Amino acid sequence: MSLRGRHLLGIEPLLPDEIVALLDLAEEYVSLNRQPQKHRETLAGLTQINMFFENSTRTQASFELAGKRLGADVMNMAVEASSVKKGETLIDTAMALNAMHPDLLVVRHPHSGAVDLLAQKVACAVLNAGDGRHEHPTQALLDALTIRRAKKRLHRLTIAICGDIAHSRVARSNILLLGKMENRVRLVGPPTLIPAGAAELGVEVTHDMEAGLAGADVVMMLRLQRERMDGGFVPSEREYFHRYGLDAAKLARARDDAIVMHPGPMNRGVEIDGTIADDINRSVIQEQVEMGVAVRMAAMDLLARNLETQTG
Ligand code: ASP
Repeated sequence: MSLRGRHLLGIEPLLPDEIVALLDLAEEYVSLNRQPQKHRETLAGLTQINMFFENSTRTQASFELAGKRLGADVMNMAVEASSVKKGETLIDTAMALNAMHPDLLVVRHPHSGAVDLLAQKVACAVLNAGDGRHEHPTQALLDALTIRRAKKRLHRLTIAICGDIAHSRVARSNILLLGKMENRVRLVGPPTLIPAGAAELGVEVTHDMEAGLAGADVVMMLRLQRERMDGGFVPSEREYFHRYGLDAAKLARARDDAIVMHPGPMNRGVEIDGTIADDINRSVIQEQVEMGVAVRMAAMDLLARNLETQTG
């Protein structure tokens, strides 16, 4: 079981077999994480540095827990208090950290491509924890594990990804992963929030929420990412909820056993009705968070095996 690459920068370069191998290993960590004694020595002696240049709750906390449960020395760099605020460039910061010999560097950055650039400059394994609107590979992997557990398969499913697709790295990584695993992916949202050329990604596109949800096995909702919008992409939140917010009436168009997902953070009453988000018979949102820790443990475990190979 291994990954071909030294880094995990995106879903794009992964082969279906690598995705399945990572999810299979993550399953083992799901079991471990449900036991009172969760500690392993898999990453013992290795140093993991988390550098988050953009806010995060779930991703940062789960990468930290994942590293600690596997025995790594984990450091969270406080970007707010660092020299980044004094104008230091990303590369200078990365080179300074590189000189401290980390083995795993987990990076989130607001600019698409910034994490790839950084990976070219450092000697350790780099994990992309989200770069701009480009990729968020561990999110797509944890979503895949959640879907596989709920649906007992990860192929030939109809998956509706709804809302602010244009600004979403979660959508992009999911489109790539679900496409590789031969699923039918539908993008649903207002024309202003669907990226130009989306149909070329091998997906269906609709601006009608009810048509988009018809017969879906999985309904994946996305947050309106206002921090990436520089103008009026939607008329008002009320109007948006009316047309694109997930409520019981719209969800009734999906299959009776359809699951509801959201990567978080959620804006209740904007893209999703709070009652649906909390409905334990439909919503797997908390399970997504649980899978996040296991998937990140598996990703770091696999990359660490490659480090051993490189250093002999
Ligand atoms: N947490 C996800 C991300 O970092 C989704 C979101 O922010 O809406 O991309």
